Amino acid sequence: MDCRKELVVKPGRKLDLSGIDPSYTGEHASAEAAQGEIQRNVSRMDALQALLYADGRQSLLVVLQALDAAGKDGVIRHLFTGMNPQGTSVFGFKQPSAEEAAHDFLWRAHQRAPARGQVVVFNRSHYEDVLVVRVHGLVPESVWSKRYELICDFEKMLTDNGTRILKFFLHISPEEQLARFRQRLEDPARNWKISESDYSERELWPAYVEAYEEALSRTSTREAPWYVVPANHKWFRNLAISQIIADTMDAMGLKLPPARVDLAEIERKYHAAAAELRKARERNGKNGRNHNG
Ligand code: ATP
Ligand code: MG
Repeated sequence: MDCRKELVVKPGRKLDLSGIDPSYTGEHASAEAAQGEIQRNVSRMDALQALLYADGRQSLLVVLQALDAAGKDGVIRHLFTGMNPQGTSVFGFKQPSAEEAAHDFLWRAHQRAPARGQVVVFNRSHYEDVLVVRVHGLVPESVWSKRYELICDFEKMLTDNGTRILKFFLHISPEEQLARFRQRLEDPARNWKISESDYSERELWPAYVEAYEEALSRTSTREAPWYVVPANHKWFRNLAISQIIADTMDAMGLKLPPARVDLAEIERKYHAAAAELRKARERNGKNGRNHNG
């Protein structure tokens, strides 16, 4: 199954989330059957990240958005662990600090956008400014309603500058969310993850669905597509996202840069240095000036 084709939000098309089953697993029957494929995708991602870094001309931005407990943290933990920390970073978007709130809403996202050669993951993102902000009426509609276009312009500027953008909405059902809240309650190691807002936000589910539908419909573009990832099954979520990232990076035309030196000349220098070292060893040997002597 080609997840890029199957899960993409088609640009210009109105998204209806109720038509997408959060428990969907394609033709994949079980977690066990998918494990090998997930591992292969993760290895491909790691190798391609090394190539992206060496190539140094492009970058990758992965945006993760979802309601609570849909698995953003799990995706990061399972899929980005093998990448070299030297070229990868994750940034979590919380409520804006005073300094962030004093700037335009894209300011903090722009600061964290990847430099050439880098992979950056946004755990939540600038989309919060048309999601939580809209649902809670934190700014008037006249303000948030202009942001879809501003986001498209911002992302176009990034893609024109060599950044590939992939955006994932992790789609879970209210039943699955409640089951995961229950697990957090029962597992002392996960109690710290519980917050009051988990339950108050849950009551706003329909408003969030409406906000997500509009955001995804209006900002999915060919260059920066949204994917709706059925996420009730964690293994399918991991399979789909790893496949989409690996396939996308594969198609970026990444290449090892050519050597920056004259290799024949360096080869001569190498042999001269090796000969010099040999001669020095022989001289020292004759004079008995070695450590064992
Ligand atoms: P977890 O799923 O583990 O709970 P989280 O991403 O929900 O992780 P939290 O620290 O619980 O992390 O929540 C961050 C909160 O900050 C979210 O409720 C999010 O909606 C909110 N937030 C992010 N950006 C903005 C914004 N621009 N304006 C207002 N609230 C925001
Ligand atoms: Mg939370």
